[in-house]
Amino acid sequence: MPRITLPDGSVKSYDAPVTAAQVAADIGAGLAKAALGAKVDGVLTDLATTLDRDCALAIVTMKRREGGIDPEALSMLRHSTAHIMAEAIQRLFPQVRLVYGPALDTGFYYDMAFPDGKVPSTDDFARIEAEMAKIVAEDRRFTRYDLPLMEGMTKLRSEGSKYKLDNAERAAEAGSTTLSWYATGTPGKDWEDLCRGPHVPSTGRVGAFKVMSLASSYWKGDETSDRLTRVYGTAFASKAELDAHMVQLEEARKRDHRVLGKQLRLFHIDDMVGQGLILWTPKGSIIRNELQNFIGAELRKQGYQQVYTPHIGKLGLYRTSGHFPYYRESQYPPIVEHDEMARLAAEGCSCADLSNRMAKGEVDGYMLKPMNCPHHIRIFASAPHSYRDLPVRLAEFGTVYRWEQSGEIGGMTRVRGFTQDDAHLFVREDQVAQEVLGCLSLVKIIFATLGMNEYRVRVGLRDPDSAKYVGDPANWDKAEQACRDAARSLGVPFSEDPGEAAFYGPKIDFVVKDVIGRSWQLGTVQVDYNLPIRFDLSYAGADNQAHRPVMIHRAPFGSMERFIGCLIEHFAGAFPLWLSPEQVRVLPISEKSAAYADELCAALKARGIRAEADHSNERVQAKIKVAAEEKIPYMAVVGPRDAESRAVSVRARGVEANLGEMPFDSFVDGVVREAEGRLLSGAPGTVQASFAARPG
Ligand SMILES: [Zn+2]
Ligand SMILES: [Zn+2]
Repeated sequence: MPRITLPDGSVKSYDAPVTAAQVAADIGAGLAKAALGAKVDGVLTDLATTLDRDCALAIVTMKRREGGIDPEALSMLRHSTAHIMAEAIQRLFPQVRLVYGPALDTGFYYDMAFPDGKVPSTDDFARIEAEMAKIVAEDRRFTRYDLPLMEGMTKLRSEGSKYKLDNAERAAEAGSTTLSWYATGTPGKDWEDLCRGPHVPSTGRVGAFKVMSLASSYWKGDETSDRLTRVYGTAFASKAELDAHMVQLEEARKRDHRVLGKQLRLFHIDDMVGQGLILWTPKGSIIRNELQNFIGAELRKQGYQQVYTPHIGKLGLYRTSGHFPYYRESQYPPIVEHDEMARLAAEGCSCADLSNRMAKGEVDGYMLKPMNCPHHIRIFASAPHSYRDLPVRLAEFGTVYRWEQSGEIGGMTRVRGFTQDDAHLFVREDQVAQEVLGCLSLVKIIFATLGMNEYRVRVGLRDPDSAKYVGDPANWDKAEQACRDAARSLGVPFSEDPGEAAFYGPKIDFVVKDVIGRSWQLGTVQVDYNLPIRFDLSYAGADNQAHRPVMIHRAPFGSMERFIGCLIEHFAGAFPLWLSPEQVRVLPISEKSAAYADELCAALKARGIRAEADHSNERVQAKIKVAAEEKIPYMAVVGPRDAESRAVSVRARGVEANLGEMPFDSFVDGVVREAEGRLLSGAPGTVQASFAARPG
């Protein structure tokens, strides 16, 4: 006699066990039609699940009650589509051995082995999709059946599928006493797959789908193991959503910083140097330098002092800070000095011994710095401070090193060495609010200059039920309020996340939304009560007693690598004038105007503008095409007539037509003004906008 509690608190009682589908039908025909799955006591399951005891039931549909797509429903739909794709591929490639096919945030994949070497290619996608469409049209039910573990194993052994057998063994190790299959239709007759589920009710419910790409992988990620083919696909509830996804992917592909970085020669990653280690080419270095100069100048205005610190530090330093031996798996291994190494070798010390003895502090060494804070702390501690000296604000574009698994790195967003726009503020308790506010006002200026107007902040607060936090609760209250107030002052959306604070203090994170709607998590501002204690920092108060300062860590843009990766995609490589590696390309129409072109180029360079003349023998149309591909903001086309009238024909990036003519000096002045003003392309005050503003 199950009593079933629904999300609105109402209860339905039944005399006999009932399926979730039946309950949905009893609630309403509309819900029964939209239902894809069920949540029983919070666990996602099939709609066909029988309810034989009291439980809480929520019917899962693609749309959530509070609006928007239900991610669990979407994930179920995608995994169901993975089954359909696997069946379709098996029809076309009968030798295939299936391994594993989970859903992803953007779709799904299925790992497959092709023992005969006949592997599908992108040319087969249309055929696979056509087979999938047939299976969808047949609208077969996903039918689950369970077998006791041993019986299930015997079945898998008889089918000779070592991959599925391995999946089953792992399920057994995790405590499963039964194995489940999902037949697409009737068990024993239709296609089936060993699977935990859940699935949507039938193949007709999967919506719009597409086979996306192929990649090679290894069984269990082990390179010495069987080579597998990973077939990626995606699925959405509707064709419109799939189409929107494809448009976004295409836009993202055009903006991909890895592709643009290579095409525009902004950075290079070299196997001989090491994966995840960015080599900044001359062009990329210009962007980074301009950005650092800009941020650096704003920091100076706010009373920050520049410092420089080395890339390594002694293990003892990080033992004091708490970075070692914890977080060891995210750091490069330590460096041991020659003499120490020789002594240890003579003792017959093994690598394992060495590692243990370093962790215990019996052997010292150096570490590539994972954080800049300890170095800055030692600068602060190197001199006595009075309450009148505070805040002390130490800033450095500090390079740090973190160990990332090789599978996780790529481009500028996951790297093993990166430069933070770091600073540490040593402040009095009563200065925390003011200083957090200062950090945010700086961020606001920089985002506004870059035209990144859609961003939000997350304020990480204490978990009210936890006692893990260091520092005085009264100070925490003040610091949390300071973070909230500062976040509110930005006038952008912000959320409060209880439990997201570090154990040592509350924080503010920045998330930027790019032009195509993707979110980039950038940097952070963190209040810290812990490191001043660990390093026993103090300043002399007005009472002449020693007082403990509070630290604020801030790297609002995270790292220069990640931030510039984000900027490349934000601007799609078309940087505003001030950030562009080459700002003006001078294009002489012929040899006759070469001298005039050089004169213009020299005049621009003399004013600090990065200008080059294209003296190639190409026709001017070809020169324009090259400059456009290189995304150079302005082209100055000069011919013999321009030389005579001392004028320039101006073209702007992204504008098909010639903007018109401008006197030589006005053009040079205009470009300088636009660069120095750090104006966005086409904004009021730019050379481009001055043409639009001209009458007639
Ligand atoms: Zn499945
Ligand atoms: Zn720090």
